[in-house]
Amino acid sequence: THFGFETVTEAEKRERVAGVFTSVAESYDRMNDLMSFGWHRVWKDHFVASLNPGFSPLTSTSDPLGPQHILDIAGGTGDIAFRLLHTAHVLNRNPSVRVTISDINRAMLTVGKQRSTLLPAPQQAALSFVEANAENLSLTRPLHPYPSAAEPTTHDNQGNQEQAFFDPSTATSSIPDSSVDLYTVAFGIRNFSNIPAALREAHRVLKPGGVFACLEFSKANKHPLFNAVYKEWSFRAIPLIGQLVAADRDSYQYLVESIERFPSQAEFRDMIVDAGFVVAGEGYENLTGGVAAIHKGMKP
Ligand code: SAM
Repeated sequence: THFGFETVTEAEKRERVAGVFTSVAESYDRMNDLMSFGWHRVWKDHFVASLNPGFSPLTSTSDPLGPQHILDIAGGTGDIAFRLLHTAHVLNRNPSVRVTISDINRAMLTVGKQRSTLLPAPQQAALSFVEANAENLSLTRPLHPYPSAAEPTTHDNQGNQEQAFFDPSTATSSIPDSSVDLYTVAFGIRNFSNIPAALREAHRVLKPGGVFACLEFSKANKHPLFNAVYKEWSFRAIPLIGQLVAADRDSYQYLVESIERFPSQAEFRDMIVDAGFVVAGEGYENLTGGVAAIHKGMKP
């Protein structure tokens, strides 16, 4: 049946994505710099600055906003969450902001948790790690210790293979309705098997007035020459760099193809609106000629 076919494809995509991020977890941060010439840092800085977490026009002694809860979905190794915390706690002097990093992949989260030990203590205390599939945030669990991201699979004492990928049947917690002030997802959503389901979940967990914010690769179609160079770079150079630096051509080939398949800026904006969000103006901002884009929506 059509339904059966859909299920198989989604499951296959999920498997594929699990394998990719388990095998890239250790090399992920270094590869990001190489593949984007460091641009991903600029985009991430801009994304977080545009959200200005923890900002309050009043003095911090009387915080009318109350504690702010940010959910960083597909948070991986923590790049967005760490920036959000720094901006809120240090720049905006609002230590009541806390961030939950959620990801479907324990290997990525484990690298993130390891990196977070370098943060100042109050930021570490405001951070939590949760395993979840973004498509169903009512089935989650706190980060389960994972042996080593370098070893994608290991065996428990009964000899069963342990998966880096979150299994919803092991869920012990959930993210309640209307409990989140800001939902962020950076370079994650294009990997989801069911994007509309993830958008519906974002809408469910956000408080009324809460903001959905997404940073993702997008379509750089405005300048044909730039586009041609970009295509060459992504389809030839990135898999090659993946092979040379991370000895993993296939995973980086997948990453490039997933960018190509992701909807255009306007199509993705329409999906956000369909999920019940209100957008301002066009609903998105292009970065670096549309190589990446920021989409935002508010839950009314
Ligand atoms: N946000 C981080 C950043 O900007 O550096 C990490 C981005 S990384 C390219 C994509 C992440 O999406 C991976 O950590 C992967 O495990 C996660 N991911 C893929 N599918 C997911 C899903 N269905 N639910 C939650 N996370 C998912």
